[in-house]
Amino acid sequence: MLCKNIESVNGNLHFAGMNTLTLAKKYGTPLYLMDEERIRENCRIYKNALGKLYDNFTVLYASKACSFKRIYEIMKEENMGIDVVSSGEIYTALRAGFPLEKAYFHSNNKTDDDISFAMENSLGHFVVDGFDELDAIERIASKLGKNQKILLRLTPGIDTHTYEAVNTGKVDSKFGTAIETGQAEEIVEYALKFKHIQLCGFHCHIGSNVFDSDTFLRGSEIMLDFMGLMREKFDYTAKELDLGGGYGVRYTDDDEYIDIAENIKKVYEAVKLKIDAMNYPMPQILMEPGRSIVADAGMTLYTAGTVKEITGYKNYLSVDGGMTDNPRYALYKSPYTVFLANKMDKESNYKCSLVGRCCESGDVIQEDITIPKPHRGDIVAVATTGAYNYSMASNYNRIPRPPVVMINSGEDYIAVRRETLEDLTVNDL
Ligand SMILES: *Cc1c(COP(=O)(O)O)cnc(C)c1O
Repeated sequence: MLCKNIESVNGNLHFAGMNTLTLAKKYGTPLYLMDEERIRENCRIYKNALGKLYDNFTVLYASKACSFKRIYEIMKEENMGIDVVSSGEIYTALRAGFPLEKAYFHSNNKTDDDISFAMENSLGHFVVDGFDELDAIERIASKLGKNQKILLRLTPGIDTHTYEAVNTGKVDSKFGTAIETGQAEEIVEYALKFKHIQLCGFHCHIGSNVFDSDTFLRGSEIMLDFMGLMREKFDYTAKELDLGGGYGVRYTDDDEYIDIAENIKKVYEAVKLKIDAMNYPMPQILMEPGRSIVADAGMTLYTAGTVKEITGYKNYLSVDGGMTDNPRYALYKSPYTVFLANKMDKESNYKCSLVGRCCESGDVIQEDITIPKPHRGDIVAVATTGAYNYSMASNYNRIPRPPVVMINSGEDYIAVRRETLEDLTVNDL
């Protein structure tokens, strides 16, 4: 099976050790399931791998991948740091009791309100995206009597050959400041001048869903070269180097597999070699995985509705959710593995497209899948939906968002309740 938390037992799909049919009946559909133990295991892969190699490291969970209170509580318990990208994520983390000094604040456009809100709550580091953000931070920090720690986000100029929309490390990007154009150097010089800003080091995030280990090696080398140059030019030594997130996950059996621990070791060897050659003090190393922490901890359950067979064309299976709970096929044509949870022992010989219930032709969850012949009332499961599904969900067509049910050691509990019809009108005056 795709991941060890997915099993077929007597023709029924089990997830995280529990029968999905029982859960669908208990909570209704559409339904997000999350395997708490898997989330924790995924955190530990990073912590253990880095812990063996570096004296000083921090793993930050990029919480945009899946953000709600319970997730931040788990990250606190796992002793992880977090990335946040908006006042909303900061607020959610605060409400969960997450210590914000362990948060890094990203975003290519932090508003003045965001900046004030973060500083008033003593958020640890800002990851600064451009020149004018530095001006804003200085102005607000000076007003609040703060000294704000920052990293500068740089683009090392690497093309990762992932989808265009998640390829963030190349020069032409809305994120970060490019090394290649010389602007990275200028922003370092600029940042070092401010009284209320403390430059702690540098950040890069090359892209997302990356499988090629050379990409990460190349990224770290470019960053270290740049750090060497900054020492020469400005006598500045970076204390932190954040290598970003982006490790790929397997959405289908055809996807590659990346051994994260092995990859971290390869990157360490390259970093160590270069650091020693440069006679540079080893900085604190940070990593920011999002997808690889939560993706395979998630599964979405739907109830099958209309089955439409268009003679001479193709078949459509409609479910009771869609792009409102999983917009990733519509956005990036993301692959997914689909199961009929109540027909795991039936032969898969029926070709169809899995579509949602929204009034939008692009509302597709997956095209051209092969599953057992579906009927209205079957339970349809989409695997690996833990990342960028719930966090990207919308209320298009006034469809309430599904609940998130967590599973831990054979127990299920609601982490996010189902939105009600009433919830949909609470803001309407
Ligand atoms: C999205 C993002 C991440 C996490 O990326 P994944 O592909 O989910 O691991 C990390 N850092 C930054 C700056 C990001 O924007």
